[in-house]
Amino acid sequence: MSTLPEFSRAAVLRSFKSPLQIEQVPVPRHIEPRSLLVEMEACSICGTDIHLWQGSLSLKVDLPVIIGHEMVGRIVAMGEQAGMDSVGQALRPGDRIVYTHTSCGSCYFCTTAKQPTLCSHRKAYMYETMEKSPYLLGGFSEYGYVLPESGRLKVPDSLSSDLASLSSCALRSVMNAMSQIGRIEPHETVVVQGAGPLGLLATANAKVRGARKVIVIGSPTARLEMAREFGADECIPVEGTTAADRLDAVLAATEGRGADIVMEFTGVPSAFNEGLQLARKGAKYLIVGQLGEGKVEMQPSMIVKKNINVIGSFSGDARSYSLALQFIERHQHEFPFERMITGRYRLDEVNTAMERMKNYQEIKPVIRFH
Ligand SMILES: [Zn+2]
Ligand SMILES: [Zn+2]
Repeated sequence: MSTLPEFSRAAVLRSFKSPLQIEQVPVPRHIEPRSLLVEMEACSICGTDIHLWQGSLSLKVDLPVIIGHEMVGRIVAMGEQAGMDSVGQALRPGDRIVYTHTSCGSCYFCTTAKQPTLCSHRKAYMYETMEKSPYLLGGFSEYGYVLPESGRLKVPDSLSSDLASLSSCALRSVMNAMSQIGRIEPHETVVVQGAGPLGLLATANAKVRGARKVIVIGSPTARLEMAREFGADECIPVEGTTAADRLDAVLAATEGRGADIVMEFTGVPSAFNEGLQLARKGAKYLIVGQLGEGKVEMQPSMIVKKNINVIGSFSGDARSYSLALQFIERHQHEFPFERMITGRYRLDEVNTAMERMKNYQEIKPVIRFH
């Protein structure tokens, strides 16, 4: 511990919509059992960071917070009983890890429902105040504290920290969503709403899982060109088309039935109604992107008459992180994941990176610490 600095530089949000401030945040002196202290390698920026910054999330935030939750850190200090990751691999100082929000392991959701992301005592990184110990619960920080109840996964040596960062939130959310729909049969057509990071990763995933056809609806055009490289068979632009045009295109691609599986990754409330239209009778409709406070008017009878199975999918547990790391390691030479990393920034450039992300000038910018 003596070699550790007293403070960590970190990007702190004190009031919504105002610029992040680089502050000196205390490095905790005591590492509890099962906890770790990491030196940050990389932390990518997510749409959720932007929503939190703007105060438009429908989740509780305890300001001031250190923003960032897609972190990859290198272990620099270990509490007792922290020598193993969540899938039984040995952990040592110097290993790189990604880590999950917490789950207590002893509430109804953790044990009976086996849905740890819904834990009653969940603590999430970047949502907890930085004014109380252990302070370092956000990703845009030189050091990070891994809470005892967090899942943690060792990053394979062959994977860059940038790609591990991409796996930590975007891909694990996709893996969790995919687990909820189960198998994709070889005759099934999947419509992916949204060509952002999650949409692109879901496209690659649906393709690998053997979907007959993957159709991506999104914008701008450059993103759709990228969607093709991630396995999209057809792309439908949002710009310059109406919802009716897009429905016609999906019906034409599915012998008039509509999609067997629709997956929503846009975060735009109106996409929900459109997705219900695009789904065939008896389809599965998975909602992943909606975390804002936006509202939309809908006709519930659509769900009944079409017998649609609407499924929400929130976050991801240690299993999803593990699957994400395996997926990206195995397919990293097959899909251009590196091209999703559109910008690399230093910690003191975080506001520029956040602004650019907000203005859709980036797909996945990363804050690099070395
Ligand atoms: Zn995220
Ligand atoms: Zn719990």
